[in-house]
Amino acid sequence: MTDLQHKARRHLWMHFSQLGAFQRDEIPIMTRGEGCYVFDQHGRRYLDGLSGLFVVQVGHGRRELGEAAARQSAELGFFPVWGYGHEPAIELAARLAHLAPGDLNRVFFTTGGSEAVESAWKLAVAYFAAIGQPRRHKVISRYIAYHGTTFGALSITGVPSIKGIYEPLVPGAIKVANTDRYRCIDCSHLDGCTLRCADDIEQRILMEGPDTVAAVFLEPLQNSGGGFKPPAGYWQRVREICDRYGVLLVSDEVICAFGRLGTWFGGERYGYVPDIMTFAKGVTSGYAPLGGLIVSDRIVAPFLEDTKVFLHGITFGGHPVSCAVALANLDLMESEDVLGNVQRNMGSFDAVLQELRDIPIVGDVRGDGYYRAIELVRDQKTKAAFTSAESDRLLRGILSPRMFELGLYCRADDRGEPVITLAPALIAGEEEFAMIGSVLRSALSEATSAMHH
Ligand code: PLP
Repeated sequence: MTDLQHKARRHLWMHFSQLGAFQRDEIPIMTRGEGCYVFDQHGRRYLDGLSGLFVVQVGHGRRELGEAAARQSAELGFFPVWGYGHEPAIELAARLAHLAPGDLNRVFFTTGGSEAVESAWKLAVAYFAAIGQPRRHKVISRYIAYHGTTFGALSITGVPSIKGIYEPLVPGAIKVANTDRYRCIDCSHLDGCTLRCADDIEQRILMEGPDTVAAVFLEPLQNSGGGFKPPAGYWQRVREICDRYGVLLVSDEVICAFGRLGTWFGGERYGYVPDIMTFAKGVTSGYAPLGGLIVSDRIVAPFLEDTKVFLHGITFGGHPVSCAVALANLDLMESEDVLGNVQRNMGSFDAVLQELRDIPIVGDVRGDGYYRAIELVRDQKTKAAFTSAESDRLLRGILSPRMFELGLYCRADDRGEPVITLAPALIAGEEEFAMIGSVLRSALSEATSAMHH
């Protein structure tokens, strides 16, 4: 065992990981990255089919981003944005406001996505208190949706398996239907969606009492559960409902922003303007941690009064080095037309994955842009699902290790039904899609035989 492996086993607490399994099995240790690929301690190359964790938009090994960080550290390594400003935070806030739709012009920085979601909830509550509607504190989000792990964000998260032991969570976080058209009992047998999933939001608002509901938190395209794309008209209906009852619409863009769907923000892709957008991950392509909220002028207005304060802050929110990296990242995305690359190639990416439908355990292939998911089923015709024990064996016992062995890092997850999630760097093209297609064909075919015998 190498020294590094020994130290990792003894001292590193990997997130969402079975530490016990790593007492037996080797911990994969990544040493470097280049473009769409990463290399481990043995020098083996893997296609990073998940951009780390939906993060590394411009790819690995981009010196420009390290250089931007070094320049900023030398200039001003840290200063808080608590009552002060510094150039990187100011310039980035202005740049994000410029990219954001409508009147979303004010940026509140955090260090990551959970804090952004948490902050958006607090802002919604503080906003309603400021305008004389102090009863509005509840929030609505969707089944199986993932919005982070801190107590507030975890309350908004709709994944029972990661919430149970932490209960009681923050009260007032209500769940509604998601847009799982493949399994929707209302419309999966019809040609189109009935939008009952959107109307569910209205029913919940009425049931709770509109004067108690502060905000609706939705991702443009829901990640957890496997790439639930919004049906046509969904977002327009949701916007109408929120407006009708004076509820804020929060678009959780932690995954979908910065080109993942071929646009700067998911709202642009699906034609809506929210009141607040949360972002993190891709804003820096992961070269430094950063997250935040982009907020509508209307929500900011009460806080512009003389003595009003949004009573909330985070030491490292708007860290100058992270903001400088974000600016350099946005420069790269613009100069290399990264969004254009996604727009031009997303069709071929989809086509490569759709070809896998002949493999018996492939139930559905869906998603958008450079975010795709494959739902695995026991029976294609009946959509019969695997039991949770089977799903565990399929994902953790067979598919994950086999795909990794074949040189593909991606996500095999069963927060809902078992799905494989693919979200390569936004600079990926035909070569990467071909490799993803061939690894998946081998691994899924082998898994079919193993599961059917
Ligand atoms: N919101 C969404 C939609 C996410 O996908 C995630 C993380 O994957 C989060 C929030 C939480 O972000 P973080 O892990 O940076 O706290």
